[in-house]
Amino acid sequence: MLHTKRRWGIAPCEDADELAAKLTEHTWTLCSAFRTAHGTVWANDSTCEDALQEYGVLRRGEDGAWRQVETITVSWCSREKLRLYIDQADAGVFDAATLAQVPAERLEEPHATCALCA
Ligand SMILES: [Zn+2]
Repeated sequence: MLHTKRRWGIAPCEDADELAAKLTEHTWTLCSAFRTAHGTVWANDSTCEDALQEYGVLRRGEDGAWRQVETITVSWCSREKLRLYIDQADAGVFDAATLAQVPAERLEEPHATCALCA
């Protein structure tokens, strides 16, 4: 991830269409992340709320470790295109790549209010 210290609050979003709409039609606080029904986590890796909105795609390996397998600039995606990426990530299409390791303690559920969402 671009942000190596950031912690994210994980919210479940099990409907892929809803997630595609949420990420393409709204801007979320920089500590926001969403978990799909298949366990993929989409974590906000944008530099600020006014910038292009980028999300790291996080997948949990069989060893329990979280890895970032892709970065998607959701600002450049239509809802339909992002839905395709969500499905691909859930299907493991991106799993061959490891862009970064993400310690599990940085994925918080629940998430206490932090400087990014205060
Ligand atoms: Zn926060």
